[in-house]
Amino acid sequence: MNSSSNTECGVCRGFDLAEAEARRENDESRATDCRVLRRRHRAAEHPDGIESGNGNGVGVGAT
Ligand SMILES: [Zn+2]
Repeated sequence: MNSSSNTECGVCRGFDLAEAEARRENDESRATDCRVLRRRHRAAEHPDGIESGNGNGVGVGAT
């Protein structure tokens, strides 16, 4: 089993890849940068921790 975070969001993915690459090059500051940016993006775009699907996911509670 080799399942890292199941990210479907392209932006999260991009930060993920960038971080992995930076780490490979031992560029810790860059990796940290990517992590911070990804965190920010996630907080803004995936407040519920849901990575797939954007928009309103909260709408349960119909009459
Ligand atoms: Zn994302």
